[in-house]
Parts: sequence; C-alpha cells; structure tokens
Amino acid sequence: MSMGDFIGFDMVPRLSRGSIDRRKWENFLSSIKEHYQNDKQVEVKRNYIAFESSPSLLLPFECHKFLRFGAIVLEQESGRLRDYIDTVSCVAIANFGSRVHCWDESSGVSGHHDQDEVERSILSYEQFDEPEIPTNTAQSVFGTDPASELNLPLYEIQPVLGKGKGLVARFNIAKGQLIISEKPFFTTASAANPTAMERKLSIELRKLPKDAQRQFLSLHNNFPGKQPFTGIVRTNALPCGSGSSIGGIYPTISRINHSCLPSAHNSWDSASGYENIHAVRFINAGEEITISYDHGGPSDERRHHLKKSFGFDCDCRICSRQPVELQKSDQRRRQIQRLDAAIGNGNRVLNSPGDCLKDCQALLQILEEEYEGSPGALAARLYYDSFQISISHGDQARARIFAERAHRARVAYEGVNNPETKRVQKLKEDPTRHASFGISTKWKRSKEEVPRELSSDEFEKWLWRQGI
Ligand SMILES: [Zn+2]
Repeated sequence: MSMGDFIGFDMVPRLSRGSIDRRKWENFLSSIKEHYQNDKQVEVKRNYIAFESSPSLLLPFECHKFLRFGAIVLEQESGRLRDYIDTVSCVAIANFGSRVHCWDESSGVSGHHDQDEVERSILSYEQFDEPEIPTNTAQSVFGTDPASELNLPLYEIQPVLGKGKGLVARFNIAKGQLIISEKPFFTTASAANPTAMERKLSIELRKLPKDAQRQFLSLHNNFPGKQPFTGIVRTNALPCGSGSSIGGIYPTISRINHSCLPSAHNSWDSASGYENIHAVRFINAGEEITISYDHGGPSDERRHHLKKSFGFDCDCRICSRQPVELQKSDQRRRQIQRLDAAIGNGNRVLNSPGDCLKDCQALLQILEEEYEGSPGALAARLYYDSFQISISHGDQARARIFAERAHRARVAYEGVNNPETKRVQKLKEDPTRHASFGISTKWKRSKEEVPRELSSDEFEKWLWRQGI
C-alpha cells in the first residue's frame, strides 16, 4: 500500500431521470451544500459541486449521470480527503440507503461500476441533458426505485459462531455512519446486595409493556442462578457515558458482541437519552458489528475484566492471535496506558507541556498502529488533551486546530448532537472559553497565528511543536 487507498461509493443501480430520484438528489445536494457552506475547498460550480482536493470528487446536478464518488487517498495526506469521502458517503446513505455501495480497495472491496464508464460519466457533467422524464416511464426504462429497501436497518440480528446471537451488517457501512440509535428499556445502578438488586429489577421490569418484557428476558445471561434479572443486566448493561456507574439495557444494542478491536463505537447521548452506535471503520456487508466493553490494557487484564464483569472468555481477532503477535499488541496496549496516565498528569501539563504534547503525538501513532488506522473516538480524546495542553499555556492557534480535530472525530463517532460534541464545537469557535485559559502565557499566540502555505508534513511538525 505504498500508493494509497482507493476508497469511495457507487450508486447502484444508478438514479433515474424521474422526478422521485431527482427530488431525492436535490435534497442530498442541499445537505452537502449546507454542511460545507464555510469550506472554501468545496465549491458549487455551474453544473456540479467540486471538492478541490481531488479532480474526481464531483457531485453533478443531474442525478442520472452520477456513478461514483471516490479517490485515491495517499498515505502522506492529512485526513481531509478521507473526511470528505466518509462524510459524503454517510449523507448519501442517509438519503439513498442500500443503493449506496461503499467500497474500499484496501479492504478488498472494489467499486461496482467500471472505471472507464465512471470517467465517461464525469466528462458528461459539464453539459446539461434533456428535460425530465416522468418517474413511471423512467422506472420502466432505467430500472426501479428500490424504495422498499430504504427503510431496512443497516444490520440484522443473526446467530454468530460461538457467541449466540449478534449484529451483522446487512449492507456495506461507511466509516462514521450511524448504525443504530436506541433508548434503553431502563437504566440502573448496581446495588450492593444481590437480593435487593433483583427486587429492584423486577419492579422496573413490571413497568415495561409485555413485548418489551419478553425482549428483555430473551437477552443472553452469562450468570445463571438465583438472580436471573441481575444476571441479564450484568451480561448486557452498557455504562451511560464512559466511567458512569449507571448502566442501560437495550433491545438491540445489548445484542452487540464485544471485540478488543471493535468495528463500532457506542456513545451515550445524555440530552436525548439515546445510546448511539457509529462505525469506526468501513464494515463489509455480512461482517459482524462489534463494540468494546473493556477498559483497555494488555490481553490478560482485558480477559480478566471481561470474564468477571460480563462472564465470557474473549476470543476476538486480537485475543486469538499467535503468542508473538499478541505480545506486540500487549506491548502497545501497555504503552497506551502509560502515555494516557502521563498525559493526564496535571502537574506535568503545567510544568512540562512540551513533553506532554510529544506524548500525545506518540500516543496517536501507537493508537493508529494498534487500531489498524481507525482509532475512532480514542483519537477524539487525544486531540482534546492536546487542545487542553495548548490552551493552558495560551496557544490559541494550536488549540483551535486540536479542537477542530477533536470536534471532527466526535461528529463522526458520537454524532453532531451529542452534548459533548457541542461543547467541543464551542471551544473550537473560541478556545478562550476553556477554564484553563490564562493559567500560563508561556506559549502565548493568537487564534489567527496559524502558518499558511506549509506542506501537510511541515504543518504537522509545527502543530506538534517538533524541533521547538
Ligand atoms: Zn479480545
């Protein structure tokens, strides 16, 4: 993979000239325009929307011409090009459902349409065609509108080898795509006394409608015994926010199995009371959707925690590696823990901010490696830490860039409406809102003092204060 990854999505089957498809395409284009209204790299031209980062990233106004949105993302490029493709894919899926065929050649999934045909279609964007044809005629001429497939969820509940039931992707799912959003049956704190806990749960359960009770009782129980309700809750509860002692039990989300290298991320939206699941990487149709239940650390610590808290032995892709490979992963996980602790040390942030920022950059690199290029929400936290270090010492320029990156990752993996995402957005707009601003003026720099015309390599060096 020295060249780069060819990624994108195809429209399959292509849209017709009919009014239904045209209206949907217009809605899609207005979402894209609105999303990128302040981005100078995204330009609305006479007959299409152009993404300046790549000549092949175009969205024509005439929907029947559109076959593909995709490009080769070079390794040395910053995340921008990949972000455009991921975001436009997500908006397309929200509008066209299963008709959007996501592909990623580095995952062995190629586009549907022939590249020559794609290039010919792009050349035709410049000229407008004939007027609209009514939908019915269009459907018979150009294929049908698979409207019935639009409402299908992105997943199916299916038996998974060795794990009972699990969630499996029905379609290809783009990175950052919201897979499911669900309210819990109820939320609960764990009680010290098992009998009291069981009684409390039976009261909660009786409040639910009959079919919800049945759904709850059909969830897996890894702790069979005298307290069946407690067993189900222990096996299936997800904390409402990281580190929370309150757990939620869900009809569908509770069926998502664990992996130490998950394909999705779960986040609690305290404002809406919903748990959301976002893809952290490209997921192939037919692949299992997994999240992580553990707190990190090397495999022995993770396995111990998973057995004790959830009652199962992890045999995920990492845990079932050969000893030599597993050891490498364990080393990285220990280093992640060590760097996390070092970055979280408040005294060090004050007294040796340069070292802390170096640790952040090192951590980013290890996360990329350990999570195979998709550190997901872990990157959001890391960028937020880098933001805090910079703003504590008065560097608004770097703080703004770090807040932008933290915000972008939160939008992708926790959703734009999540209260934490909104909080980071405010800090991105005005970094001086942060409580630590003004503690030190060691790195004093205004918000506008971001260097221009640097190559992306040079920009990263500036950002992480390399060689300063
Ligand atoms: Zn595992």
